[in-house]
Amino acid sequence: MKICRTKADIRDTVRLWRLNGERVGVVPTMGFLHEGHLGLVRLARQKGDRVVTTIFVNPTQFGPNEDLATYPRDEARDLALLEAEGVDAVFIPSVEEMYGAGGDTYVEVPGLSDVLQGALRPGHFRGVTTVVTKLFNITTPDFAVFGEKDYQQITVIRRMVRDLDMPLEIVGHPTVREADGLAMSSRNVRLTPEHRAQAVALSRSLASAEALAKSAPSIKDLDAVIREELGKAPAAEVNSVDIRDAETLEDLSGELDRAAVILLAVRFGTVLLIDQRVIVPES
Ligand code: AMP
Repeated sequence: MKICRTKADIRDTVRLWRLNGERVGVVPTMGFLHEGHLGLVRLARQKGDRVVTTIFVNPTQFGPNEDLATYPRDEARDLALLEAEGVDAVFIPSVEEMYGAGGDTYVEVPGLSDVLQGALRPGHFRGVTTVVTKLFNITTPDFAVFGEKDYQQITVIRRMVRDLDMPLEIVGHPTVREADGLAMSSRNVRLTPEHRAQAVALSRSLASAEALAKSAPSIKDLDAVIREELGKAPAAEVNSVDIRDAETLEDLSGELDRAAVILLAVRFGTVLLIDQRVIVPES
């Protein structure tokens, strides 16, 4: 497995593969890898000839009061995990390598980036779309794999790729979960044991909503069932429960009459957990 710390090094590496006609997939991450990330890597392995994983904790997508300084990191462990998955190259740049030459230009997807998590975290998606564009330009992949766990993120990225005719395919991977249903996240290690036990409320509430979706519920009923289930976790501070059109992220009301995505953001202490599920009404 090649470890590239400079843009020039990863560019040269990928260029040779592409000259040989090999299909290259990239899996962008912020490191502290878990089975969720590794699921994305395995999908990239299946779909392509070469897999590049990027590890970069991107400062521009963190707000001033967010957890940039305490974001968990373990480079040695990450590299060992990626090596075991047969990853061909890891791009692991410093902040200086990524932004040292300047950072005046942004890629923005207004609208989709300003709602939901984007409204709670101003500038977050602009940081994501800008760094993802840079990573695409640096690694020049045929396709990139993103997790559906970060549903708004993959929706914003798909729109950006479509609108700017970026020459690659975006591949989604379903959310990978712990045995009890908690969506895997690098932030889960920061939950106290008590909060970790209660965090199952997120996936339980989504399962209840999915069950209810079979009986032509109203959006209000769905919201109520989700909040009732979340309420069973005494430490849960519900930031948001959103039920939106699965494609446009537009708000829904009345009866559930199309594919909808439920997006949860729930805080336990200082840890913000998110989860998501697409539900489809029974026709
Ligand atoms: P992160 O390191 O949190 O930026 O995540 C890197 C990529 O892994 C993103 O595309 C995430 O959506 C994806 N990812 C993180 N956790 C999971 C999970 N539990 N299941 C599926 N994909 C995930």
